[in-house]
Amino acid sequence: MRKYVGELPKQYDPKVVEKEVRSLWEQEQTYEAVKKFRAKGPKFYFLDGPPFPSSDTPHIGTSWGKVVKDTVIRYKRSQRFNVRDQPGYDCHGLPIELAIEQKFGIKTKKDVENFGLERFITECRLFAETNSVAMGRAFADLGIWMDWAKPYMTHQDSYIESGWWGVKQASSKGLLEHGQRVVHWCPQDETVLSDYEVVLEYKMLRDPSIYVKFPVEGKENEFILIWTTTPWTLPSNVAVMVNPDFQYAKVRSGNETFILAKERIEAVATASGRTFELLESFPGTQLNGVRYHSPLETLVPIQLNLKNAHRVVLSKEYVTLEEGTGCVHSAPGHGEEDYEVGVRYGLPVLMLVDDQGKFSPEAGKYAGKPVRSANSEVIDDLKSLGMLLHSEEIEHRSPVCWRCKTPLLIRATDQWLIRIAQKKNDFMKEVDATRWIPDWAGAVQFKNWLEGLKDWVVSRQRFWGTPFPVWTCDFCGKQKVIESKQELLDNATSTPNLPTLHVPWVNKVKLRCECGAEMTRIPDVMDVWFDSGGASLASLGYPQNAQESKFWWPADFIVEGRDQITAWFFALLKSGMVTMGKSPYKTVLMHGFALDSEGREMHKSAGDYVTANEVVEKFGRDSFRYYVLQSTLWEDLRFSWDAVKQYSGDLSTFWNTFVFAGTYMSLDKFSPHVPLKQLTRSLRPEDVWLLSRMNRAIKEATALMDEYKIHEAVRKLKAFLVEDLSHTYIRFIRRRTWVEKQTRDKLAAYTTLYTALKVALVMLTPITPFLTESIYQHMFRNAEPKHLQSVHMLDWPKFDEKWISDSLEEEMNAAKDIISTVAVARMQKSMKQRQPVPKVIVATDSKSVRKALKTYSTLLLDQANTRTLAPTPRAETSKYETPTRFSKAEFADGTVYVDLKLSKSELAEGLARDAVRRMQQMRKEMDLKVDSYVHAYILAPSTDAAKLLKGNRTYVAGEVRAKQLVITTKKEETDAPYYTKTWQINSETYEFGLCEKTKLEKKANPRK
Ligand SMILES: [Zn+2]
Ligand SMILES: [Zn+2]
Repeated sequence: MRKYVGELPKQYDPKVVEKEVRSLWEQEQTYEAVKKFRAKGPKFYFLDGPPFPSSDTPHIGTSWGKVVKDTVIRYKRSQRFNVRDQPGYDCHGLPIELAIEQKFGIKTKKDVENFGLERFITECRLFAETNSVAMGRAFADLGIWMDWAKPYMTHQDSYIESGWWGVKQASSKGLLEHGQRVVHWCPQDETVLSDYEVVLEYKMLRDPSIYVKFPVEGKENEFILIWTTTPWTLPSNVAVMVNPDFQYAKVRSGNETFILAKERIEAVATASGRTFELLESFPGTQLNGVRYHSPLETLVPIQLNLKNAHRVVLSKEYVTLEEGTGCVHSAPGHGEEDYEVGVRYGLPVLMLVDDQGKFSPEAGKYAGKPVRSANSEVIDDLKSLGMLLHSEEIEHRSPVCWRCKTPLLIRATDQWLIRIAQKKNDFMKEVDATRWIPDWAGAVQFKNWLEGLKDWVVSRQRFWGTPFPVWTCDFCGKQKVIESKQELLDNATSTPNLPTLHVPWVNKVKLRCECGAEMTRIPDVMDVWFDSGGASLASLGYPQNAQESKFWWPADFIVEGRDQITAWFFALLKSGMVTMGKSPYKTVLMHGFALDSEGREMHKSAGDYVTANEVVEKFGRDSFRYYVLQSTLWEDLRFSWDAVKQYSGDLSTFWNTFVFAGTYMSLDKFSPHVPLKQLTRSLRPEDVWLLSRMNRAIKEATALMDEYKIHEAVRKLKAFLVEDLSHTYIRFIRRRTWVEKQTRDKLAAYTTLYTALKVALVMLTPITPFLTESIYQHMFRNAEPKHLQSVHMLDWPKFDEKWISDSLEEEMNAAKDIISTVAVARMQKSMKQRQPVPKVIVATDSKSVRKALKTYSTLLLDQANTRTLAPTPRAETSKYETPTRFSKAEFADGTVYVDLKLSKSELAEGLARDAVRRMQQMRKEMDLKVDSYVHAYILAPSTDAAKLLKGNRTYVAGEVRAKQLVITTKKEETDAPYYTKTWQINSETYEFGLCEKTKLEKKANPRK
């Protein structure tokens, strides 16, 4: 096997590179091999946040997230970690039910039952599984190395069982409760929504805004004045809340008297166009217990039978003076705050609204009507009863169902919940013990959210979900929580047919109660957030797979978008606290949203929708990855095609840097077998400088990657590759690599370059895995001592503090300043860079510039192309202030003077360099290999010119690899197939001729 560095294709073509690498990975089973290679390392449990497989193409934001995950996984693997990399899908839930409903034209829950539950569930499963597979393919295509063959899916029986076990945990800890809760309800989907779902979507809605008179008991024409925007809740009114700390007033208008907050009199008068005469004012406490009649009692007879209702109660928290009358109509069945105050005062909860958002039969006149459309009827009735003071309309922001856009109702329902509201302090402690990136994601955002921690409503009234594992006795009402399939089978009255644990099959399983009667499963399913919240254990197959689970749990790292603060991060924490009493994750990274160029959210139906796949088509996978990874992770990414294009240009620069090294190293059959340690005496200062920069880059990038500041690490790497390596070091060592002899000096340059390039390559590997793999395979694999099969098996580099030198780096900055300032001074007088000059003076008082002149003297002579280079104090520059002799230019720490007076030898050298440049240009045009030899001639315009050139013949011949170089003034006849070209140099005409040596040999010996 070849042991030296190989050559890289000259052009970076992502399409070719990625195709080759993909088929290599497939052939060599690279992913599996790398995993095995790291299997003995310390554990790193990455937990994937499962996307909803609601479509077959992932959103670009999800692809971004997956790229971040892959980058972390690859980084950890390069640090020898044994990474758990199972992807997941959140397969249950309403979005999938809705997709199936749409497909078959199903409108309501009743329709689903008519359609057939077995068929419906089978369709849901098929939909989820098909999309999961398609999404997995799309992610894998991006180069995401996860275990696509074995994802966790929340609808798998083992996953469901883990959820059941979680419910059992809650139950045996006394946290599971079945009770009344006021919830947000979607009347279309006929199910409860979670608090974190409620905040997902709002709409501006036009609603009535009415002032209603509540007649005070035993008083003629005296009313408590209330204000509401939900007239449909008035049939369910049971109380009025006032604030004990406010002043209230009785006012007269015509022959009527109204009670309202004193501070609201003017506003209500303006709104209603009435004039009010103040009769008396008094504190709110005085209203406590005042009784009144429901204004609708004649139309809703149940209002007449309520006990302990229709009175004024006190609430400091929920009565404000910002709007309304300061007297708040209270319907505990339709408001969380009303409910809370109602419980405090023992008020009845009146619920007249059914699951579909229609009034129930007890609602009297309104029975059967959808509540929102009953609004106008209620208003008309109030008017004809003389109970309406004023009515207008307002527009306000109201929550709507994020799935079907129906305005949500608030209603009291019986739900299963897990009591966690009391555990707020324990939750906060866990948040403090978790590492958050950025830290405000936890310390501010998550903690703010947890301030409002309520009990967890975990039941849903749907079909496609984890069946709620509670069976109740049809006779004695006893309840039993089942924690596994085995327990279910052990307690079943007969052996059931259970293809899956889902509805409707599981519903047919009856259990035997202690009383002898049969137990039936309650119809609810679990909240899907209960599913995904349990992922840290369920994906491990806990509790069945206890031993392996113990090894991995808790998760070391999770990363998701910023919307997950109130969603998955929250659900995981709740689940972890309920089951294990602690948080299931140690580190959380939060990323932003992918927006379109205008800053709008991207949806298929809105914004400039772009998928990762489109970016890949145009620029390649590595470009997509590099582009999203350089963007500040926790800020939103405004997608821009121009930016993608610009960043993809960086990848070409990276590639070209390696191309240069590969070309010359392979030419010289360079092998990195001599360690740097043995070359220290041959290292030039610029080599040592590069090694300082390299060790610093490792140090900084490692720290940043460890802090998950991936975008900053990417920028550091780019600076090292582009600035230090490509623009600086490679330019400096070009001449050293052209020398044909194998010198220690050249070996030192190659070894330094190889070391730095390999470091850069490995550090780029997690970011652009295709490009780096390709470079590794072409250039490094054979040269490396172990010939490891993939770049993804190389260890992340370690830095050595000893190499890092602040002064050497500072002096290099000064040296670079001098070089560029000399170039400016030359340009001003059209003195070509190729033309050696006798001297350059650097006038400076800066210590580091003077030190740089010493440290980098050889480099500076070469780069400034001067015979001598000397410093002088700034005060002593008068003798150089002769513009005909010296060209000057300034830099921050001094002035550079370039001597323009050339001697004959400098002129000759300048001409030689001019000739070399032209002939090298011709070599390129002839498409010659870098190492092929030529025969060449130069036809000079005069004997003087020929003489000047002849003085540097060896140099010219060496540079252009000419085995034979004729310098003449007379064109001779020859039958050699020369490639000829004429050039103007210093306003004279030269002709150059080049012929590849092998062609001449073939000509001489045609049969060969
Ligand atoms: Zn809905
Ligand atoms: Zn029983």
